[in-house]
Amino acid sequence: MIFGLAFLGNQVAENPGADETFAMGLGPGEIRMAARLLREARYAWALTGAGVSTASGIPDFRGPQGLWRTHDPEEVSTIDGFHRNPQAFYSFWLWRFQNMRKAQPNPVHKLLAALEARGLLQGVITQNIDGLHQRAGSRRVLEVHGHVRSATCLSCGRKYSMEWVAGEVEREGLARCACGGLVKPDVVLFGEPLTPDFEVAQREVAKADLLFVLGTSLTVWPVAGLVPLALGHGARLIIANAEPTPYDLHSDVLLRGDLVVMSELLARVLEVDLAGS
Ligand SMILES: [Zn+2]
Repeated sequence: MIFGLAFLGNQVAENPGADETFAMGLGPGEIRMAARLLREARYAWALTGAGVSTASGIPDFRGPQGLWRTHDPEEVSTIDGFHRNPQAFYSFWLWRFQNMRKAQPNPVHKLLAALEARGLLQGVITQNIDGLHQRAGSRRVLEVHGHVRSATCLSCGRKYSMEWVAGEVEREGLARCACGGLVKPDVVLFGEPLTPDFEVAQREVAKADLLFVLGTSLTVWPVAGLVPLALGHGARLIIANAEPTPYDLHSDVLLRGDLVVMSELLARVLEVDLAGS
């Protein structure tokens, strides 16, 4: 958790491709090596980000091409902004949350569910709030940034369904509990602590001998710190992402390219049926 990006930047500059087992791309060699590492691992976890859900039609809100290029995250994605102007928060987010709940899992979600069912993965640690891992069949999912299935009163802690929240917002412009408190969807906003799942994730990664990173640029902390945590005790690292990450040169296999293509190739080598999961 204490490795800074500057430190890793030096590593990248000093050792470009120095590791002879290092591989990058979506060629048969990389796919085979990723499959081998998954088969050899005794305790593997996946770590996923927005990139695994873009093929399900969910945009990468935080990424460089995301909404924050055109919208001010201070207004609608911080806990202070929510308290200041809950109407703006709801008008920005509610239909996006509703769209997430209508989205369908794609082959990347299905691959991870199938790997867990085969015993090749312990489960998935995800930064995503869309619930698509569970809908693809993943059983153990640690949602460190929360989810869009329910909402909670910030004053008394009472739980509400998102259907109730949607109805209230439609009528009143915001959702207020019977006690008068504001009801906030169970997603982690900037300025809030991560969910209790994050502590579980840290404990699990501390035991893992392989971390399979998919669809995250590994720049959002503290989640990105799970990678140096894994590397610190010698875990192997597979990174599958369309864009470079600060940890690419620390990976054993770098699967750079389209994640759906990668999932289909990996499924073929591992003889996993993505349609059946
Ligand atoms: Zn309340």
